[in-house]
Amino acid sequence: MKEEYTIARICSNGHTQRIAVSKREVAFELVDINEVLGPQCGICHSITFSTSHEIPEIDLELLQEWSTNLDLYFMPQDEELLLADEKYLDMILEMLDSVQLPDHKRNVLMDALCVIVYDNTIEGNDKKDDQLKSRVISELVKRKEKLVLAEEWIMDYIKDVVYPQLEEK
Ligand SMILES: [Zn+2]
Repeated sequence: MKEEYTIARICSNGHTQRIAVSKREVAFELVDINEVLGPQCGICHSITFSTSHEIPEIDLELLQEWSTNLDLYFMPQDEELLLADEKYLDMILEMLDSVQLPDHKRNVLMDALCVIVYDNTIEGNDKKDDQLKSRVISELVKRKEKLVLAEEWIMDYIKDVVYPQLEEK
């Protein structure tokens, strides 16, 4: 598995500088490229940058660390969207069932499951996967108590699409 990731910054004059970081550092955004390289572009003296980084694949080790540490974030704001992916489904279920999670982390994981159902229901997604959706619906139904606890966390537009489908089961 890939262990080294790149963070890049481009100054307002178009100069690119890059640094290499570990998977853990990039996943949890632990390194600030502007702290590493200093406030000025290495080529001109610009102090205005846009930065970008590769998005690593989340593995069980990262998910376990994230799940139990409230100080760690995967790309804040979009954690449930990042995790709402079939490739993470088994790991998410494993975490939900095997570890005592902080409320916030458990809510994000439940929300990610709802987002998978949402994504595979709405119009405009050409790659809807009914089998995946049915599986996640049944996994949600099995964990209804956890879903109730996450209720305030999950956005209304997600609930409006997902909850009626749970009641049909
Ligand atoms: Zn520059």
